[in-house]
Amino acid sequence: MAGRPEILFPLFGELTGLTGVGAKTAQHFAKMGVEKPRDLIFQLPHGLINREPVASVLDVEPPSVATVEVMVGMHRPNAIKGRPYRVTVQDSKTSFQLVFFHAHKDWLHEQLPAGQRRVVSGKVELFDGVAQMVHPDFILRPEASDSIPQNEPVYPLTAGITQKTMQKAMVSALSRAVDLPEWIAPGLREKHDWPDWHTALLTAHAPTKTADLGFGAPARERLAYDEVFAHQLTLALARARMRRAKGIVSQGNGVLRNKVLAALPFKPTGAQLRSVDEITTDMAAPVRMNRLLQGDVGAGKTLVALLALLAAVESGGQGVMMAPTEILARQHLEGLQPLAEAAGVVLEILTGRDKGAERKRKLAALAKGDIHILVGTHAVFQKDVAFADLRLAVIDEQHRFGVRQRMDLGAKGAAVDILVMTATPIPRSLALANYGDMDISLLDEKPPGRQPIETVLVSNTRFDQVVARLKAALAEGRQAYWVCPLVGESEAVEWAAAEERFRVLRAALGEGVVGLVHGQMPPADKDAAMADFVAGKTKLLVATTVIEVGVDVPAASIMVIEQAEKFGLSQLHQLRGRVGRGAAASTCLLMYAPPLGENAARRLKVMRDTEDGFEIAEEDLRLRGAGDVLGVAQSGLPRFMIADLEAQADLLKIAQDDARLLLFEDPDLQGARGKAARVLLYLMEEDKSIRLISVG
Ligand code: ADP
Ligand code: MG
Repeated sequence: MAGRPEILFPLFGELTGLTGVGAKTAQHFAKMGVEKPRDLIFQLPHGLINREPVASVLDVEPPSVATVEVMVGMHRPNAIKGRPYRVTVQDSKTSFQLVFFHAHKDWLHEQLPAGQRRVVSGKVELFDGVAQMVHPDFILRPEASDSIPQNEPVYPLTAGITQKTMQKAMVSALSRAVDLPEWIAPGLREKHDWPDWHTALLTAHAPTKTADLGFGAPARERLAYDEVFAHQLTLALARARMRRAKGIVSQGNGVLRNKVLAALPFKPTGAQLRSVDEITTDMAAPVRMNRLLQGDVGAGKTLVALLALLAAVESGGQGVMMAPTEILARQHLEGLQPLAEAAGVVLEILTGRDKGAERKRKLAALAKGDIHILVGTHAVFQKDVAFADLRLAVIDEQHRFGVRQRMDLGAKGAAVDILVMTATPIPRSLALANYGDMDISLLDEKPPGRQPIETVLVSNTRFDQVVARLKAALAEGRQAYWVCPLVGESEAVEWAAAEERFRVLRAALGEGVVGLVHGQMPPADKDAAMADFVAGKTKLLVATTVIEVGVDVPAASIMVIEQAEKFGLSQLHQLRGRVGRGAAASTCLLMYAPPLGENAARRLKVMRDTEDGFEIAEEDLRLRGAGDVLGVAQSGLPRFMIADLEAQADLLKIAQDDARLLLFEDPDLQGARGKAARVLLYLMEEDKSIRLISVG
């Protein structure tokens, strides 16, 4: 398709083309991410100065800007160098002073001739209880005072840019914007009372009251909508392209599934059955599945994955499940093996540890179709791993798997159905922003019989007491995790801390009772440590966050987390989710180093007060912001300039529905609205999606 539409050229020109912007100023602007007029116009004012005239400075509450007509009185030049020059003036109710530093006397007499009337506008302050106005922004003859703006927008600034420079450059940038064709559906615009784009832009930059600066102001809301709509359109294009790639029809017959269900010691929850149903329906359709299974820790995602994988096998194909760590992959193998055997399905594991002849044998079996389901680490996606007939790929615990990576996976060409599973509950708005290209299944129900986890906050000054209590609990036959603090970026430091803690606890609790697992251990030692803990040989497992995701040891009922204040809420939730999986009542001790900051205290209280992953995730979003919750770098989450993910989650949903509908009606964006939407994509620099159209 053609490149950027000509109508947008002026907005994409050099910043130095704007009034008052030289090379130096342009450099300062670049520091706030403003490199062209287009970037500037999306910097909306965050305040406004009201310069409507008042009768007297007594009518405003200082410090505040006032515009008043005055009679100019006496000049009082600075007697001592460094002191200000003062001019006494009289408005309709009181007299006050205009104050100037480093001012030229001649200039002042010219501007403010004694005995004449002038309109002055500037900030009124009290100095020793007397009103004064330092360096008025405007001094004009009454007949010329119309040129004072009644309301002046106030912009966020960066070093080197003054409000005046900003305002001038903005006026000049705004003059380059023109009417654009409408990309919003007419009904939607009407419903929200949104102006057209150009009007919205000008209005957003000309607030006349505080409400005009809020999220709810129609002009701002429309611009926010444009932003999220462009993003959702990108995601919808990615989704459409995925779906257009012909999918494999994998229609299970339920034979294997029924065998597994019969072998299960429990009944699947309603949410599990519903999710399996959604997934297998997608798999049976001729479009490629791209689905996210979201479920809190312990919601039972593994079973859902297995039942979906069985549908792939029933239809004559194979399935693969990828876990983020070796430990998890092994655990999946162990957990699923008995069920697979009950159904007569061949399950194998492939990780980075498979080498030589063993690896060759597995690859050959896979290529022949002798292995039905493969679990493993990212090793399962290596180039030389070939399947006889791969139907479904399950990616477990990948909350950091971003749009980009999914697009890459999609580009591999194979029409394999994809199921991504995440245990990090994602606030609705983030799910929409980050997973808008996917369909979502929600496991919103936990298996019955789970005991609530009692969460307690303890200061680390009570370390000895905690160890003593732990000793007593272990003597009763309970098992516990001990998670070591995060010490900076380096794994090596973290490891050293874990080993040190291990020594201390071993000395206190006894030889042979305490195990250790961390990311830097040789793989075989890690497995052995895990196995000892699972078997109950060790009672306490000292660990770094490697146990964060997925590890399942139902007998463990105590979780101690050191320096809990250093962890993110979602991470704490993940860690805590390692206990409370068995029938016994569980405890989570969050140790902290006092004194706790306000924010840290609030976060730990949230953890103590709720176990609801979604509630925790919403709170995490409020406290840390979207980028930190998802990890912006990996997530592909855009940094919105205008829209606010939290305050405007509803807009995201509307945008998603609208974007999908538009593509359904006009897949190549060739109709009038479709073409307008292309202009929007260019305006919003969604070049990814522009690529998707040209390829698609
Ligand atoms: P997650 O969603 O965190 O991956 P898992 O799949 O590891 O959760 O399941 C957690 C535990 O719950 C496992 O021990 C699993 O066997 C058990 N489980 C799964 N589904 C049910 C169910 N419907 N009823 C009872 N227990 C279940
Ligand atoms: Mg899991």
